[in-house]
Amino acid sequence: MTDFKSLQEEMVTQQIMGRGVVTPRVIEAFRKVPRHLFVPEQFWSHAYNDHPLPIGEGQTISQPYMVALMTDLLDLSKEDKVLEIGTGSGYQAAILAELGKEVFTVERHKLLAERAEGILKELNYQNVKVLIGDGTKGWKEFLPYQKIIVTASAPDVPQPLFVQLDEMGKLVIPVGGRWSQDLILVQKRKGKMIRNSVCGCVFVPLIGEYGYGNVD
Ligand code: SAM
Repeated sequence: MTDFKSLQEEMVTQQIMGRGVVTPRVIEAFRKVPRHLFVPEQFWSHAYNDHPLPIGEGQTISQPYMVALMTDLLDLSKEDKVLEIGTGSGYQAAILAELGKEVFTVERHKLLAERAEGILKELNYQNVKVLIGDGTKGWKEFLPYQKIIVTASAPDVPQPLFVQLDEMGKLVIPVGGRWSQDLILVQKRKGKMIRNSVCGCVFVPLIGEYGYGNVD
């Protein structure tokens, strides 16, 4: 039988801490959330490897280090209301739920959204709400959000997301072309956008009105 706990510990120490993400609360969350349960069973033994994995619908669960880096950049507190665009497997949402107060996550693929909601329920995450829809428009009902994370790449910061970000809030998003992007950290100060580029990255596209347009 696969020793998932040992694989998880290796992922945390080598891929995450080894590359400089060492914030204790963040590390604790990565030690707690069982990543393999968020991927199709045929990939369980690869779930803690240093790369993304397919989750169906042509989509992926991001590389563990990228999930950790984006989480760390958000600097989450237990008081934060968090908006995630791109639920995918639900893994990032579970990590956010460990660190923030409430997580609102939007996914455009019904099948993925329902699967993620199912596993999040099974694992008893009561502070996560999942919405099926175009996340480029945000989720107006619960605004403002202290933290926003976009886990698909966009041509630029979708304007509705910046509007829904709280003053002093932080937003992380991959921005750039179709095949390579910059991970950027956006901060809202007196209503103005301050942008900082963090590193290069490659994400699946954000499909929607304020992303790469609608495909269906
Ligand atoms: N955060 C996810 C996880 O932990 O598994 C990984 C997300 S995957 C890299 C990107 C996701 O964004 C895909 O599931 C894709 O369907 C979704 N997506 C793309 N455009 C979207 C949009 N406009 N609104 C909501 N979700 C979108």
